[in-house]
Amino acid sequence: MVSRIEPRLACPEPSNYSERCTVYVCRTCCTQTGFEWSDFDKHIGSRFSNLMYPDRQAVEREVADKLTDENSFLDFYCSGCNGVVRVYYRYEPPEGEFIPEGSS
Ligand SMILES: [Zn+2]
Repeated sequence: MVSRIEPRLACPEPSNYSERCTVYVCRTCCTQTGFEWSDFDKHIGSRFSNLMYPDRQAVEREVADKLTDENSFLDFYCSGCNGVVRVYYRYEPPEGEFIPEGSS
């Protein structure tokens, strides 16, 4: 149930549209969930989870020994099958930049 994608590589064909958005396709039911890249930005460094506590615990147990250097995640329930989806990603600030507080 836990998915790992590289958000920056999730759009196979770069376009004006995909510079703002990407789409997650559920492996169970093929439901597409759209994101804006800013959604990922909002979760950088955040431990915020959209999941209910037991689901969150289950996901964290499942991924505990699979994570490498991911430092951010975004999670939700698939609107098609109600499955738990958590996307891990790594954010590295560009050289010489920092994350402004309260930016959105
Ligand atoms: Zn699904």
